[in-house]
Amino acid sequence: PSCGDACQEPDPDIFNKLVNEMKASNIGDYLRKLTSVPHLAGTPMDLENAEYVRDEWIKYGLDSAKIYSYDVLLSYPDSNEHNLVQLLDEHGNINFTCAIEEQGLRDDEKVENIVNPFNAYSGTGNITGDLVYVNYARVEDFDELEEYYPDLNLTGKIFIARYGKIFRGNKALHSEQRGAIGLIIYSDPADYASDDATDVYPDAWWLPGTGAQRGNLHVSDHKGDPLTPGYPAKDYAYRSQVEDAPLPNIPVHPIGYDDAKMFLRELSGDIVPSGWAGDLGVTYRIGPGFNNANRKVNMDIHTRNEQRMTHNVIGFIEGAVEPDRYIILGNHRDAWVFGGVDPSSGTAGMMELTRAFGKLLKEGWRPRRSLVFGSWGAEEYGLIGSTEWVEEFVQNLAARTVAYLNVDIATSGDFTFVAKSTPLLYEAIYSATKKVTSPEDSSKSVYDVWLERYPPDSGDLPPISSLGSGSDFAPFTYRIGVPAADLRYRHNPGLGISSYPVYHSVYETYYLVEAFIDPEFNRNLAVTSVWGELARDLADSIIIPFNCKDYAEQIQLAVEDLKSKFESEMRNEGIHFDAVDSAAANFTSAATSFHQRIASMELNDAMKIRRINDQLMSVERAFIDPLGLPSRRFLRHVLFAPSVTNYYAGSAFPGIQDAMYKINENLDQWDTVKQQMAVIAFCIQSAASTMMDVV
Ligand code: GLU
Ligand code: CA
Ligand code: ZN
Ligand code: ZN
Repeated sequence: PSCGDACQEPDPDIFNKLVNEMKASNIGDYLRKLTSVPHLAGTPMDLENAEYVRDEWIKYGLDSAKIYSYDVLLSYPDSNEHNLVQLLDEHGNINFTCAIEEQGLRDDEKVENIVNPFNAYSGTGNITGDLVYVNYARVEDFDELEEYYPDLNLTGKIFIARYGKIFRGNKALHSEQRGAIGLIIYSDPADYASDDATDVYPDAWWLPGTGAQRGNLHVSDHKGDPLTPGYPAKDYAYRSQVEDAPLPNIPVHPIGYDDAKMFLRELSGDIVPSGWAGDLGVTYRIGPGFNNANRKVNMDIHTRNEQRMTHNVIGFIEGAVEPDRYIILGNHRDAWVFGGVDPSSGTAGMMELTRAFGKLLKEGWRPRRSLVFGSWGAEEYGLIGSTEWVEEFVQNLAARTVAYLNVDIATSGDFTFVAKSTPLLYEAIYSATKKVTSPEDSSKSVYDVWLERYPPDSGDLPPISSLGSGSDFAPFTYRIGVPAADLRYRHNPGLGISSYPVYHSVYETYYLVEAFIDPEFNRNLAVTSVWGELARDLADSIIIPFNCKDYAEQIQLAVEDLKSKFESEMRNEGIHFDAVDSAAANFTSAATSFHQRIASMELNDAMKIRRINDQLMSVERAFIDPLGLPSRRFLRHVLFAPSVTNYYAGSAFPGIQDAMYKINENLDQWDTVKQQMAVIAFCIQSAASTMMDVV
């Protein structure tokens, strides 16, 4: 039987048409425009840029583009009272004051409306005390302090930690938990500069001593607007008290390494453990306090929380056959300052991609499924725009979304393309990267160079890492079980730096990108092309290109990993892996038969095609536990979650890992472990059952 459009194979030429339409130079032009002024969330530029994106999308020919606004809790330095971090001499007089603003080094950075370095949602207060150096303020750093310096009393001290390794919000949380009355976070040259101290921006891409990293401190299971967990921040919303929000109570403030040196060179106490010294050229000591015990540190922090509006733009290309199935492409629009890398490199790519899709539409093309474009507000404050939108439209999004494809930073370096994703998308990512030409070598594909530069530990595919958190894919995957990916072009990991050096500083300019990262914007074009092709493939293929066998393999690996960490300890408590093992085996064989069934199926029956696709969509959803993880109820994916001790990192089987972590801290959690082992076995089994035939 003929089934018309619903069985129509996609036009094989669309990939070429899409890629030929896009120009690297256009991406450069968009980037120049987007980075011409600061565009911080909650400021007039938030709305102005949203209107620009909306108007462009309408011009390009998208079927619709609308602004969705939310009234959310943001945070800013006080415009009347500067945030001060100071050194007080033995008489209590000010000996030294840290820079209030970052020095403008080129004319581009000497403009209005640059927000001074600050940490969003810091506590306020004027405190004076002795300083203690706590390395990266990771859990293992505090464990090491306790072990080597058992007499060190951390309570009532001001901590100084270096940026890097983990999400800064966790640094603040760990510090507060250990009794700090304030926290200074600085960027050490070891993590953000080269060995040559003069080799810094604007002569190189390395962080100068005057640069400081802004960034939010919100750590919780819900992220989004801190006052409306679980529900959209509309005018009718119930808002919790700010005091009850999961935000730091202590003042926290970022400084550059020129200023940090003024404190660290005077610290007294023991020399730091190995691996703790940075590259400031001083002897790093733990403290507490200075060589002259009467000299103190003062923090006078006025950073204030404030309710303001932030804006998302949602663009829509309606699918021809299955308009109620969404492939969502997302990028945040708000930047701490100019956003040259973060996020405007991604926004520039998104503009060029939407323009190209619009052109194809005008030429008569239409994808099978709908393409949805999300330009998010206030990501920098904790994934706010994306989370509020997911909360508002949770029913439709949970039922209709096929995949969410994020590009936040498109280009943070000149090394290679990389991806993070959930397993169902691995194969589609590899296939898209094989089609796109490498910007490094036109005889090779993006995939080839990725594989060369990221040789796998095992197997023969370039590694795709787990999502962790830190950008707008999080609410889609962890709240509603949508397969998601995050794509970018990055620097060489061999440089051993935590992120690109000027991250979240005023020096993230157009000039930085053009001079040091992507002079021709062809790396950005490569990422954008992969993004576009991945979306097109997911939108156009008759059968959604998910590979459930890759999921099976990842589950098996994660189970092995869990066993190697905890099996013997669990056995002593009478907890066994039998049920989990058998569920994983069932999932593997269900995935194998499911894909055999798909491969042998004739694509001539619209209802049958839709039935299979609905099954493919329900696999990831099956890992959502409506009750959430124990004590993290808004994180509901039982296989993956952001790690509790570092929100940037991923944790597999988080329900178990969280409980084992608490057991390590001498809390009785064995019952939770038992319960979570059953939950995991059930969810894997339940996911396997979604792949079975109807009878
Ligand atoms: N991407 C932002 C950052 O790293 C926000 C991440 C988050 O709050 O989860 O600071
Ligand atoms: Ca909310
Ligand atoms: Zn970003
Ligand atoms: Zn950012």
